[in-house]
Order: sequence, then C-alpha cells, then structure tokens
Amino acid sequence: MGTVYDTIVLGLGGMGSATAAALAQRGRRVLGLEQYTPAHTLGSSHGESRIIRQAYFEGTDYVPLLLEAYELWAQIEHDQHQRGALLQITGGLLIGAQDSQIITGSLHSARTHGIAHHLLAPDDLRRRYPMFQPQQPLYALYEPHGGVLNPEQCIRTYLQHAQQHGADLHFSEAVQEWQVAADGSSVRVTTERGSYTAETLVIGAGAWSGAVLAELQLPLVVERQVMFWVQPQGDVQQFRVPHFPFFIAELEPGLEPYGFPIIGDPAGGVKVSLFYNGTPCTPATLNRTATASEFDALRPTFAALLPELDGTVLRAVTCMYTCTPDHHFVVGLHPHHPNVSIAAGFSGHGFKFCSVIGAILADLAHTGSTSRPLGLFDPMRFRAG
Ligand SMILES: Cc1cc2nc3c(=O)[nH]c(=O)nc-3n(C[C@H](O)[C@H](O)[C@H](O)COP(=O)(O)OP(=O)(O)OC[C@H]3O[C@@H](n4cnc5c(N)ncnc54)[C@H](O)[C@@H]3O)c2cc1C
Repeated sequence: MGTVYDTIVLGLGGMGSATAAALAQRGRRVLGLEQYTPAHTLGSSHGESRIIRQAYFEGTDYVPLLLEAYELWAQIEHDQHQRGALLQITGGLLIGAQDSQIITGSLHSARTHGIAHHLLAPDDLRRRYPMFQPQQPLYALYEPHGGVLNPEQCIRTYLQHAQQHGADLHFSEAVQEWQVAADGSSVRVTTERGSYTAETLVIGAGAWSGAVLAELQLPLVVERQVMFWVQPQGDVQQFRVPHFPFFIAELEPGLEPYGFPIIGDPAGGVKVSLFYNGTPCTPATLNRTATASEFDALRPTFAALLPELDGTVLRAVTCMYTCTPDHHFVVGLHPHHPNVSIAAGFSGHGFKFCSVIGAILADLAHTGSTSRPLGLFDPMRFRAG
C-alpha cells in the first residue's frame, strides 16, 4: 500500500503552492499534484508581476485579509531568506473620476480600516507624476504600501518551503478523478500514474476548476488576457521605482488599464494590460499565441493617459482569468464533502491573497473551519433561489 497522506493538494499554482507550504509547516503529511512543471506559464500565475494593495475598491471585507496577506508574505520571505525578492513596495495609484468606483471604493476601504493614503486632485496627479497626463480631470488615490509581487518566485518559494517541511510534490502528473469514500472518511485521487489516498483534499485548480469541480456547476467564465511589455518613449528612468508606482485607472466603467513600474532590466519595458474585457475561452481552447499587434486596439487608451507610453511592444504573453459573476472568490468547504476544500474563481485579482488563502485552506483541510470570515466567498451563493 502507498503512503496515506493527511491532505492532497490538487494544483500547485498560486493557491495550491501556498496551501501545501502551510500544511507541511504544520507537520501534516502532504501530497501535491500538479499537471505541469513548477511555476509554469500555462495557467494564471505567471508574467513576473502582480499588484498588491490595501485600500481595496472591490470591498472593505477584503481589507483584513489583505493585512494578513502582507504579514504572511513577509513571513515566507523571512523563512526562506527571500527578503524583498517576493514583494517589492512600489506605491500604487488608483486613478479615476471623483465619483468613480475606483476612487470612492478605495477611499471607503482606506477610511474604514485606517489604511495610509493620499488623495491627489487632477493637477496634483499631473504635477507629482508627470508621466500621467490624462485628458480628463482624474483624481488619484496614492497607496504608499502598494507593491508588486513576483508570482513565479512566490510559487517557487512556497514549493521549496513545502518540500523542506516534508511534502511530496509530483509535477507533470494530472489528476484525472477524485472520489470521496462512501463513509466520507477519506478521499482517493487518481492520476495517469497511480492513485493516492488522504483524509482531506484541497482543490486549487485555477482555470481548470470548472472541469475538476464539474458536479458543482459553478458559473465560472475563463477569460483570455494578454500582458504587453511596452518600451516607453524618452527617459526610461521615469518609469522605474520610485518615480513610477503601479497604477490602475478607471477611465470609464469597465475600461480599466493598469500597469507596473519597470522592475529589473531597464530595457524590459513597462508591463500593461486591461482589467477584464478578455475573450471567453477554456484552457483547451485558449489561443496562447499573443502578438504585438493586439496592442494596437489598446494603444490610444494608454497614450491618452501616459503619452510617453507609445513605443514598441517588446513582448506579449497570454494568461487566464477565472471569473465569477460578482467577481468575488469561491473559497470554502465543498458543499457535499466536508473533507474537500475548494479555492476557485479568483476573477483576476487573487494572487495578492495567495499567502492568506493558503493559510485558510490549510485550516479548512486540517480542522474543518477557519477563524477568517468566508461568507463573501460562499461556493453556494450562485444557487438559484
Ligand atoms: C494577466 C493577469 C494579471 C493579473 N494581475 C493580478 C494582479 O495584479 N494582482 C492580483 O492579485 N491578481 C492578479 N491576477 C489574478 C491572479 O494571478 C490569479 O487570481 C491567481 O494567480 C490564481 O491562482 P490559482 O492558484 O487559482 O490558479 P493557478 O496559479 O493557475 O493554479 C492552478 C493550478 O492547478 C493546476 N491544475 C489544474 N487542473 C489540474 C489537474 N487536473 N491536475 C493537476 N493539476 C491541475 C494547474 O496546472 C495550475 O498550476 C492576474 C491574472 C492574470 C491572468
């Protein structure tokens, strides 16, 4: 008979790697199963940068989780001697009209939870950050604690942490099926190489969640997203930290360009994209070939905000969002199987939470409950009636 594990973690991307690390650190016997290689570029957690911020315009309920996420990112950086390698504080600008959701929502979260921020009037934005020359009078909420995570390095670090604490991690091994025993006491997971048994299962399957959790019929829509690295005109230094924070701009409802400061190679370009508005797809139908010409449609939007960001597209890479109808996450116990926990539907804003979601999933797998409120993420909230 093979090893019997306490927990199997299905999927070792952002959420799964953090969960495997948290469980292994607690002394649990963990098996992690990943269909691709460590920190691969075929899911949702690649592209060198992810925004992390605290004055969350998506809702005040997220803020306590974010504050804990920051602590846990600092903890794993400390434990794995990666100080500053996972999270770099860059500051961040949330830009929009005075009555836009991005400004009113960010201000509400900042004031409710005492998050450090400065509100910049349109002239202040242009003066303090002269790369931004929006054609409309736009306000900006500056978050000094905003920063950028390196997703590949975060995942590699969590995987290393998990292995150092005894986890068995199998790569290039896709899960074909999982089944809960009739008496509910264990879970059996079958892959192309074998089958494994554990007391509990955590599912963090990203864009593949619709298939892995088919019986729940979650209303998940996978979107093709493209990240572009654009060479700015003029002086590259002004697009680097500390001159250039990350930004998200709500130019009109539903039109939200965002971008990052140049980190690392100054010739690497400014990474930009659009929040949402991707083409619906599945992991199987995703057109993974992105071309520089796809930026043509976005160029006027960016040029109207950042006139110097009008240069050559150096790279274009695809990625997938997995969206819920309300853009809130799906995290909790499986409604029919209390020894199965699920984390899905991160709707294009989940990476910053990996550290804390990993801790939450470890709680659920280990004890069946967690002290953090999960009502917003209830997997059953989409049921009719
Ligand atoms: C372009 C883009 C920009 C983004 N920007 C931000 C941002 O700035 N800030 C932010 O917070 N978030 C951002 N996000 C969202 C964030 O990256 C995602 O929410 C997060 O990475 C999702 O993590 P995950 O673990 O759910 O998915 P993934 O990291 O994709 O992990 C799922 C894993 O499960 C594996 N898997 C699936 N099925 C199986 C199977 N049957 N057997 C074995 N393994 C399996 C997959 O191979 C994969 O490795 C962005 C996303 C994209 C695409």
